[in-house]
Order: sequence, then C-alpha cells, then structure tokens
Amino acid sequence: MNNQTYRKAAEAIKSSPYTIAFTGAGISVESGIPPFRGGDGLWSKYDPEILDLQYFYKHPEKSWPVIKEIFYDFFGNAHPNIAHLSLAKLEAIGKLQGIITQNIDNLHQEAGSKLVHEFHGTCGRIVCTKCQMMYPSKNISLAVTPPACPSCGGLLKPDFVFFGENIPTKTYHASFTAAERAKVVLVIGTTGEVMPAGSIPIIAKQNGACIIEINTETSAFTSRYTDYFLQGKATQSMQSLMELVDI
Ligand code: NAD
Repeated sequence: MNNQTYRKAAEAIKSSPYTIAFTGAGISVESGIPPFRGGDGLWSKYDPEILDLQYFYKHPEKSWPVIKEIFYDFFGNAHPNIAHLSLAKLEAIGKLQGIITQNIDNLHQEAGSKLVHEFHGTCGRIVCTKCQMMYPSKNISLAVTPPACPSCGGLLKPDFVFFGENIPTKTYHASFTAAERAKVVLVIGTTGEVMPAGSIPIIAKQNGACIIEINTETSAFTSRYTDYFLQGKATQSMQSLMELVDI
C-alpha cells in the first residue's frame, strides 16, 4: 500500500462536497460473484447468448434455466462485503452522494445504501414483457421456467439490461447528471470497457472531478483519467481508505 496515495485520496473525499462511486463486477468478487470476463469469468462457463434480447424472446425455454442458475440460485446466496458496507457508511455520514453501479446483484442496497442508480437494472425485480407489470423477484416462483406473469400470463424477464437493450432512460440521465456534478468519483472494480457506462468517470473527469480508482489490475481509466490508483482488492483498499477518512 502506498500510504501517500491513500492519504491524498482520503483528503480528497474529506474535502469534497459531492462524491459518487462507480462500481463494477470487481466489488462483488469477494462476495463470491465472479466477473463476466477473464479466465474465471462467468462467460468462460456460460454462453452470453442467453442474455441476448432477441435470443431470449425466441428461446425463453433455453435462456431461463441458465438465468435462474446464475442470477437467482447463485447470486441469491451472496452477501455484501466490507467494500459495499463502507460505501453505505460513507453515504450515512454524508460523504457519499450516490452510487452508480453496473452490477445487478442488489448488494449495495443489501449493504444499506439508499442512493443507488442501477445502470444495468437488477435481478431483484422481474418484469412482464406483455403487460409491463413489475414484481419483486422473491414473489415469483422459478420452479418452472420460463415463468409466466401471474396477471396476464405473458413471458417474464429479469429487470436487468440484456445485450441489445437500452439503458433505462431515467437512470441514464440521473447517472450522467451525478457524474457532471461530482467533485470526486470512487471507481471500484470495473474494466471500464462496457459502454455507455464506462464513459461516466470520463465525463466526471472532463467536468473537473478527481478520480480515485480501486482495482486489482489497471483498467481503461488508470493511465488517462485516474488521479489516485489504489491497487488491491476492493475490501482491503476500502478498509484502508476508511481508516484514513477517519470514521
Ligand atoms: P468486468 O468483469 O469487465 O471487470 C471486473 C473488474 O474487476 C476488472 O477490472 C478486475 O480487475 C476487477 N477486480 C476483480 N477482482 C477484484 C477485487 N477483488 N477487487 C477489486 N477489483 C477487482 O466487470 P465490469 O467492468 O463491471 O463489466 C461487466 C458487466 O458485467 C457489467 O455491466 C455488469 O453489469 C456485469 N456483471 C455484473 C455482476 C454483478 O452484478 N455482480 C457480475 C458480473 C458481471
């Protein structure tokens, strides 16, 4: 750990009137959820086609069993880690004004964060593709797949963004407004390669924000946009940072 870099990052957070976090799959790795890409990534085991919107509509009976296995049986057993909890604590003491997450695992909310923009939606809700009725996913039985809407019988779909699907408009605008306003952005566990999400720290930087990045490896942001790179696991780095923010 480079103490000087941590100290400067902590000072930036302490003196900032508007700080946001931008999180990716890496923050949930220590909760037991692997990222999509890379050697141990989910796409080394599953075919990403199951999350292609056109494929899903054509073959829901093939997509749904895999969706159930990954996003409900497997993600459903994960719990927030120290990095999620630290962000919730920063928000509670007024030092974090929002989280923009690319994750769909609901772990920021489980950790207690209230101001969360779910850029790619969430597996915590299930939506009817016919009548648009929205259900908490815990209210929908997945014993038989594909599940049908209890109200109209239409095909149900997890309320997260599939390949070929647009970002929800309200979330998109709220996220970019927060990025433009931010004085500090904590970028945690993301390659920055998924667009348009990956442009959020860039927009913030272009509007004068200080970028603090936590990642085990360098990312698309590190050399061009990051001011303070805290290399390491999300849990350890956030713990060290929180000690210096002095709370
Ligand atoms: P990614 O898979 O492209 O990258 C993960 C990043 O996390 C990498 O930069 C890696 O170096 C870093 N990392 C790995 N372990 C880490 C750790 N312990 N601490 C800190 N950093 C660590 O993920 P992405 O950039 O978020 O984009 C992939 C897309 O996949 C996103 O849109 C997201 O919606 C989705 N996704 C979500 C989840 C989830 O909800 N938990 C899981 C997998 C993928």
